[in-house]
Amino acid sequence: MSRTIPVGLGARAYEVVVGAGLLEDAGARLKPFLKTRRAAVVSDETVWALHGARLSAALEREGVQALPVVVPPGEQTKSFEGLADLSDRLLALELDRGDLVVAFGGGVVGDLAGFAAAIYKRGIDFVQVPTTLLAQVDSSVGGKTAIDTPRGKNLVGAFHQPRLVLADLDVLATLAEREMRAGYAEVIKYGLLGDFGFFEWLEANGPKVLAREPDALSRAVARCVEMKAEIVAHDEKEQGRRALLNLGHTFGHALEAETGYGAALLHGEAVAAGQALAFRFSAAQGLCPAQDARRAAAAIAAAGLPTTLAEVPGHPFSAERLVRHMAQDKKAEAGRLTFILARGIGDAFVAKAVDQAAVRDFLIAEGAQP
Ligand code: NAD
Repeated sequence: MSRTIPVGLGARAYEVVVGAGLLEDAGARLKPFLKTRRAAVVSDETVWALHGARLSAALEREGVQALPVVVPPGEQTKSFEGLADLSDRLLALELDRGDLVVAFGGGVVGDLAGFAAAIYKRGIDFVQVPTTLLAQVDSSVGGKTAIDTPRGKNLVGAFHQPRLVLADLDVLATLAEREMRAGYAEVIKYGLLGDFGFFEWLEANGPKVLAREPDALSRAVARCVEMKAEIVAHDEKEQGRRALLNLGHTFGHALEAETGYGAALLHGEAVAAGQALAFRFSAAQGLCPAQDARRAAAAIAAAGLPTTLAEVPGHPFSAERLVRHMAQDKKAEAGRLTFILARGIGDAFVAKAVDQAAVRDFLIAEGAQP
């Protein structure tokens, strides 16, 4: 059983297929997008070792040659060096515009391979085959691709929509528990930002999603993709509503910047704490009932995710430094802070020109150092 969710972007429209066993018929599904009989499959060492043979075999069954380009796992690969290396390897394969790049991995591989595809010979088609929960519900859909620079995350990139997204739920079976929980932070984000009913469903069914029960997992991933597809179709380049998907990200990025973007704090964990903080900040500003902030945090904590600064490695943080990171965030305009705040669960909004001093005071009240 699979679900197909359209992303309505006119000439750049595509489908996201969510379901079990999709890898097995990847060849047939990719064929319509191939002008030649070759596809460069970009993957990381971990994903390739676990699932590469199955994808290759599926492509080869349909007469498509899979050309693996395997990169080291981890955020460091999403760098100028990683991009140079990948571009060079694609050139060495003599890939041309009629060929296809397949991004087969988590958000790191999707962002890197997607950006390489965006600029390789001025643009080549690519397909996303996301293998983490985070990538299936978020990063593989919407066409944002980027690499990090020493000045920050995702600062150099392009919008480049995939031609197809194949989210095979079976590949999540091998994903580490912690990565599963980190991805779940993005799942709960969709409920918190715009769907109270989904949030309530997650309160009851979150443990089943985390345990990878097929029906619950499928329903959760499909609902997230549906919401993302709807938002992206109306605001591809993030002029407005797409920014809602950054709920928890301004606080989260500041925490990631302070902890060094490493294994100490995964992106999803930072976003989890960031969402709890965004709700409590909204409550402190009188925008949202305190009860909603407590309920949001309880649902995040129930998934084993952090909801307070004290639970984040590196605590106690300096409020001043955290605010400085937020001011450097690319979403900050003219020194004013932009946040995604909430009027309640399922009702987030873009708040421009948030007062830096109010954020600093709030962080101090949350246990950061003055
Ligand atoms: P990731 O790609 O680093 O994957 C996490 C780890 O899981 C890696 O070690 C990987 O090798 C391993 N892995 C992947 N699939 C596996 C599987 N099926 N079984 C076992 N192990 C597996 O991290 P991620 O959390 O998927 O993505 C994070 C990245 O996504 C960040 O760089 C972030 O900036 C980016 N992101 C992009 C967008 C976007 O819209 N483009 C949105 C959100 C996040």
